[in-house]
Amino acid sequence: MPCALAHYHELALKGRNRRFFEQRMIQHLRNSLRHHEGIQVQSLPGRVKVSFQDETPWEAIQEGIRHTFGVVNFAQAHSLPIDYATPDLLPLCQAIEARLSTQSFHTFRVTTKRGDKRFPQTSVEVNREVGGYLHEATGKPVQLNKPDLTIFIEIVDHTTYFSLGRQPGPGGLPTGMSGKVVCLLSGGIDSPVAAYRMMKRGCKVTFVHFHGRPYLSRASEEKVRDLAKHLTRYQLYSRLFLVPFGEIQRQIVVDSPAPIRVVLYRRMMMRIADQIAAKEQAWGLVTGDSLGQVASQTAENIQVVSEVPTLPILRPLIGMDKIEITNEAQAIGTFETSIEPDQDCCTLFVPPHPNTKCRSHYIRKAEEHLAIQDMVDAGLKNAELVEFSF
Ligand code: ATP
Ligand code: MG
Repeated sequence: MPCALAHYHELALKGRNRRFFEQRMIQHLRNSLRHHEGIQVQSLPGRVKVSFQDETPWEAIQEGIRHTFGVVNFAQAHSLPIDYATPDLLPLCQAIEARLSTQSFHTFRVTTKRGDKRFPQTSVEVNREVGGYLHEATGKPVQLNKPDLTIFIEIVDHTTYFSLGRQPGPGGLPTGMSGKVVCLLSGGIDSPVAAYRMMKRGCKVTFVHFHGRPYLSRASEEKVRDLAKHLTRYQLYSRLFLVPFGEIQRQIVVDSPAPIRVVLYRRMMMRIADQIAAKEQAWGLVTGDSLGQVASQTAENIQVVSEVPTLPILRPLIGMDKIEITNEAQAIGTFETSIEPDQDCCTLFVPPHPNTKCRSHYIRKAEEHLAIQDMVDAGLKNAELVEFSF
């Protein structure tokens, strides 16, 4: 049966956390690959093995592993049993030699890891023996520093595995290891990247989007659906709450001074998201704020927005530049959707000169004129839930 070996950062994991980590990763791999017949995912000392049937294309397995957080790197592997008492590496050497005929390379190296120290030869001895054999057989020189091809050998469980090269995984912590958070997802560039960052640290992310209906068309909403769907690839199941915000904004516009409106909108979004998060049993709220990027994200305005919710607000992009965020959006594949033109609800009723230094007491005074609780209730009552699964 063909297989793949997936690796994680062992050093980053301590004690019991490691088993929990591994189990989450294995669970995610199983779920992610569940559409393919006969997949087996098992834990080996220090790595995870994915076995699949001959008919299953490697591309499909690769896609599943590439979208599993926790995996630092992985490779397709070929296995041969080995006897620890009288180890004979010749069959391994021959099997590698046979596979090498399809590879184009000039220099190579062999890198061995023993997951099982009961194996009598050291890693260096295996490198020498196999490297020597392959050099003789192919005539290609060994080059330890930056070779064209690295042949990885792993010895675990009375089996030798070899792989020709490795691919990077997404890293991070497996899905669900860090509980659930609620991300305020706009149709812009930043918030999908913020959601991705939290997923990468092991959170399940529920999305909340505030849309301008009935005053705006469905455009921003459609983008957000696409973005949520795209991000579902990483967590396999997502929930998106669509909250009508047009009427709430209209009331804010009627009853409060123009320069502080953006901050009032944000505080209203936070109140509603906070309640949704409580129902979802989430422990935090996530935004795509980056310090100083726009008026609502100045040092002062971030503080007055943070006062409102009971849950902590997580801002994974707070120290990033727009260019860095944009590069990441491109890498994760959300950029193209994010830049499609739309009318975000925040472009609705936006004042020309927003106050960049809103004071808390002044904002609270302004909110006394607003029927805050009614607005929150209306938002929650009219929220629409959309589910996505991969
Ligand atoms: P983004 O690219 O994520 O839209 P932005 O640079 O446009 O961010 P703002 O519009 O000030 O910045 O929004 C800051 C954050 O507030 C967003 O990253 C998002 O988390 C949240 N947010 C803004 N508008 C909405 C909305 N309509 N629905 C849900 N969340 C929103
Ligand atoms: Mg925006």
